[in-house]
Amino acid sequence: MCGIFGYIGNNDAFKVVLGGLTRLEYRGYDSWGISTLINQSINTIKSVGSIGSSITDGAGKQKAKVAIGHTRWATHGGVSKNNAHPHASTDNSFVLAQNGIFENFLEVKKELSEKGFKFISETDTEVIVCLIEDIKKNKNLSLKDAAREAFKRLEGRNTIIILDKNGTIYAVKNGSPLVLGTNDAHEYYLSSDALSFSDTVSKIVVIENFQLVEIGGNGPKLFDVQNGKQLSLSWQNLEIAGGEISKGNFEHFMLKEIREQPETIKIAVQMLDEDMLGKLKKSINKSTTVYTIGSGTAGVAAALGAIYLRKIAKINAISLIGAEANEYYNLFKPDDLIIVPSQSGETADVLETLEAVKAKNAKIASFINMPGSTISRISQFPFMANAGPEIAVATTKIFTSQAVWFYLLANFLNGTLEQAKEIALKTSGKLEDWFNSDALGKIENLAEEIINEEDLYLFGKSEYYQIAREGMIKLIEVANIHAHALPSGDLKHYVIAMIQPKVHAIALVPDGDLRSDVLNAVGQIKTRGGTIIGISPASHSEFDYFIEIPKSGDLTAVLAVMPLQLLAYYLALKRKKPIDKPRNIAKSVTVK
Ligand code: GLU
Repeated sequence: MCGIFGYIGNNDAFKVVLGGLTRLEYRGYDSWGISTLINQSINTIKSVGSIGSSITDGAGKQKAKVAIGHTRWATHGGVSKNNAHPHASTDNSFVLAQNGIFENFLEVKKELSEKGFKFISETDTEVIVCLIEDIKKNKNLSLKDAAREAFKRLEGRNTIIILDKNGTIYAVKNGSPLVLGTNDAHEYYLSSDALSFSDTVSKIVVIENFQLVEIGGNGPKLFDVQNGKQLSLSWQNLEIAGGEISKGNFEHFMLKEIREQPETIKIAVQMLDEDMLGKLKKSINKSTTVYTIGSGTAGVAAALGAIYLRKIAKINAISLIGAEANEYYNLFKPDDLIIVPSQSGETADVLETLEAVKAKNAKIASFINMPGSTISRISQFPFMANAGPEIAVATTKIFTSQAVWFYLLANFLNGTLEQAKEIALKTSGKLEDWFNSDALGKIENLAEEIINEEDLYLFGKSEYYQIAREGMIKLIEVANIHAHALPSGDLKHYVIAMIQPKVHAIALVPDGDLRSDVLNAVGQIKTRGGTIIGISPASHSEFDYFIEIPKSGDLTAVLAVMPLQLLAYYLALKRKKPIDKPRNIAKSVTVK
């Protein structure tokens, strides 16, 4: 996973690409590099760390009109300047950056080594560079055709971008995303996502697998990688401008995005595509099983969604985790349906399962935030979250959009959509009031009190157990605190062994039928001297700390995620963690 960016136009190409990479930084941020073309010679600068850090090589001093860049999330070879992209050909006649994993690179590297190629980095990327060089020379092909031929040998999901010293940019796509953008000023951009284009881009083409884009002096051309035939470019208007990406008055994107949730919940209701829901309902009625699938937080949304579908719509819904779905591949049937909540719409683990789903002619519905994503495009029922750019690597607002969307879907199937929409809109209002109450201050104080905890336990039941899992993810990824989520009923089976005085546990306590089950676990912890942080619409005498959340029918559980998102945020802040770009985590995991 990484971000790729390219630019040809009359502006300062170095600055444009640097800006693009900054907006793509959520995809990978261990190192970066930019190659510019000046007087037919390629200049490359690379650096470890955040984008724009340590620009010392005089880079960007001379204005270039063409540049490509890369922000890396290392998969092969350590994080070093030497392994950073772009990688140059032996004679520096072209440079290349890659998004993905060249799965069979070792075999090709061996072949090329035997032919005398020397490798200066540890990456799979450099092997692609040498492979192109080898094919170009031995088959006497143009760089474009050599790139096409080489690309056919790459196993895995890969997208590459190449800058030729004659000023042409080539990019080839398979799996990892690639979007071409332009504007009235005839500037051309290539990027891993459309949100990273500057707000001057008005039209885009989403590049499909096994297509090659060439951008030279006469503008862009598209080719089929397999047979080299030219294809037509179908431009579409870009609806979300990159200019919206700003922190506003907030110190971090994460806090800004947490606070946007009253609005994004409203959007999930107001922009619900009811025509498509009608079509989806027909497909669900035909299916024997409805699956939901996701990885990380989207996996929690998928599990919560399946609970709503079972509980409210009373349908047979099973949730899967992206990387753990293999044994279902043989079980998918033509009428089955799989529902995919995903921020990026590019998650590699999930895409692999969707290939198996497609092979069985089963149907795909998705709820995605990123326009033009792969998962949206392969879905028969592509719903959009419309929640605006989510820049913090740890997802917050998209999770609640996904949860609310599943809740509305389940109610639509149950014939209670109108009531559900009303409840969801009220939930948005209650959340707004909650943010304006003393809740935030209380959570910040709690963070101060538990700042040195090394382990936290979170438990709940049903939807509340899923919220405990989401809280665990946030505490681990943002605050780097070891957390463990469990169903409250499982406490007595094993986790109880860890409970002793001073252990802190977060209890997600519902107000209805399930309340007593969760309170049983609270009692078992209290008896052993543990400390309880209760998150619930109603207090209880055994809570040592109480964070009250508003009651909102079946959406109360979704509101319970707010204190957990905020607790992770404040703990990370007080523990001086890089909140918007947590250690080792990337936002959209487009590699396996
Ligand atoms: N496999 C390449 C590397 O490790 C690219 C990784 C990425 O997509 O950032 O450098």
